Amino acid sequence: ILSIRNVSKNYNSLQVLKKINLDIKRGEVVAIIGPSGSGKSTLLRCMNALETVNGGEIWFKDQCFTEKFKSYDRLRQDIGMVFQHFNLFPHMTVLKNIMISPLKVKKRPKEEMMAKALELLRIVGLEDKREVYPEMLSGGQKQRIAIARALAMEPEILLFDEPTSALDPEMVGEVLNTMKNLAESGMTMVVVTHEMGFAREVADRVVFMDEGIIMEEGTPKQIFEDTQNERVKAFLEKML
Ligand code: ATP
Ligand code: MG
Repeated sequence: ILSIRNVSKNYNSLQVLKKINLDIKRGEVVAIIGPSGSGKSTLLRCMNALETVNGGEIWFKDQCFTEKFKSYDRLRQDIGMVFQHFNLFPHMTVLKNIMISPLKVKKRPKEEMMAKALELLRIVGLEDKREVYPEMLSGGQKQRIAIARALAMEPEILLFDEPTSALDPEMVGEVLNTMKNLAESGMTMVVVTHEMGFAREVADRVVFMDEGIIMEEGTPKQIFEDTQNERVKAFLEKML
């Protein structure tokens, strides 16, 4: 569904991505792991055109969007993103936060969006918070609302950039659990994460990045149990 071909990215003289190749299949959950500064966030941001690339191509279905492409708004509806900091609108209730973008962008009837929003609140387990403002929520609850809000746009792919790393430890589990349910429902997901347990249990495929390249990729078993790569081993030892 998403095909990254020979993608390079520079910031001035710094080459952050070096000819990356990665294919994401429909329904797949791909975890991206690796040391700080290795280019994980940059790669993720290229996947929905929040960054431009300096070389190579990215294809979403049968469309190449890295060259001469106009419809970035449409692309970002199809490829949603959940950030480390949830960026909820503080002056809107939870329900409004979830409904606002689809109402504006998709121009669906309000009743239909309301029903959809309530369904999403049920999915993330926060039905009772519909009339509450974000400041009244815990970090974990905010992130679950941010996930519901991303889902309200009915994306075909959802990208996550360290969705739990700004959370207190006791709230990490509830967010990972929501993501696990989403994965089981068949959502296509790319997750940059430091949560090795999640990568191991939920991902179909794990990608290890180091200094702008994909140094190794494989099933969780291949990466976590069978790797012969010293860099991967050293990283995992530090993380576990
Ligand atoms: P972390 O685990 O710390 O989030 P990361 O793997 O996500 O790291 P990136 O954020 O992709 O790493 O950054 C890769 C490199 O690109 C780093 O050296 C970073 O300093 C640099 N970089 C990222 N964004 C910019 C920017 N907007 N301008 C200049 N350099 C940048
Ligand atoms: Mg990052």
